[in-house]
Amino acid sequence: MALLQKTQLNAGARRATRPAVARVSTVRVQATVAMPSPASTFAQPHGRVFNFSAGPAVLPVDVLERAQAELLNWHGSGMSIMEMSHRGKEFESVIQKAEADLRTLLNIPANYKVLFLQGGASTQFSMIPLNLSKAGETVDYVVTGAWSKKAAEEAAKYCKVNIAAKGDNKSLPPVAGWKLSPDSRYVHYCDNETIGGVEFKSVPDVGDRVLVSDMSSNFISKPVDVSKYGIIYAGAQKNVGPAGVTIVIIREDLVGNCRAEAPTMLDYKIHVENDSMYNTPPCWAIYVCGLVFEKLVKMGGLDAMQELNRQKAAILYDAIAESKGFYNSPVDPAVRSLMNVPFTIPSSPDLEKQFIKEADKAGMLQLKGHRSVGGMRASIYNAMPIEGVQKLALFMKEFHAKHAK
Ligand code: PMP
Repeated sequence: MALLQKTQLNAGARRATRPAVARVSTVRVQATVAMPSPASTFAQPHGRVFNFSAGPAVLPVDVLERAQAELLNWHGSGMSIMEMSHRGKEFESVIQKAEADLRTLLNIPANYKVLFLQGGASTQFSMIPLNLSKAGETVDYVVTGAWSKKAAEEAAKYCKVNIAAKGDNKSLPPVAGWKLSPDSRYVHYCDNETIGGVEFKSVPDVGDRVLVSDMSSNFISKPVDVSKYGIIYAGAQKNVGPAGVTIVIIREDLVGNCRAEAPTMLDYKIHVENDSMYNTPPCWAIYVCGLVFEKLVKMGGLDAMQELNRQKAAILYDAIAESKGFYNSPVDPAVRSLMNVPFTIPSSPDLEKQFIKEADKAGMLQLKGHRSVGGMRASIYNAMPIEGVQKLALFMKEFHAKHAK
């Protein structure tokens, strides 16, 4: 089994390694998961904490160190990436390498364009209908949580939205039951709902319809068959890099059909023709994303990343299961997210508050659930070291022991 080296993650404390069996959703992973103890052995470099934020979120320490080392004088240019012209050969090499490494990671076919845009994933909510449909035409949306609902509401300003299926925030509606319209211009769904923590485990089969996916919170967390999609998009600030850049992967034939009245900045064609530099791009954010892509390529790509993500998620879901109801995951085990793990303490909302407070004191931050659902949520993106998840699981056990009735 391809287990990533500890040193390739964020450096952690030394500890003995013993085999453990970790389980997540329907997948059983035989993992060599080190279970260090006590909790105080989880020291992180630079006095860093374990940051479970849903986004902006944790970045790999070695990427931050490299960005720091290159900050004042990037590769002998005498200036930082933040200060140089985006039209110069230096930045051109940065954006080209970022794209090339992303193409390697996702094995992006040649007939797909990669764009680095601004406006967040939220701007894609309007860009997609404006580029892929005309007024009055029908588009299909599958609503499985807060983000796909927002996307559908935005699209409804521009075309006829058919809600093909609806989830209940705990499970996903089976694809066979989706009521797709015969004449829809595309089918939009969210691959990982960041708030509810429900994640698709395979590509929905929508026949020859154009499939569009919001992968903001699980982009590059696993291999994806890009050829099955018309568009994949993701805000970078969760699993990729800093806020400010949104990555769009779009099949060539979908470019060039934007409505005439749409703002120029919302036309994919403009960005394709100008290599994402129609206007000033978010240079720094693209640079850091590029460092992350380069690291992932060196680490063995997305198969290796997915394996590690399965192990990390299994540690948390197992901790919830082993608590015998003290903690609860509201999500159907078959579709539990490997990235965002919501959980509650059903017996007491007051204990949840105490959990968050004590975890914070122990160096595990941002564990409060989204304001719309409460409880706790641990976001454990690619860059969350496995030590962070192990520490949280230990803390959960200790907290349970202290408060079990
Ligand atoms: N989609 C998903 C799945 C998200 O999690 C988010 C942000 N939390 C968005 C879209 C919106 O992203 P942005 O803030 O980049 O507009």
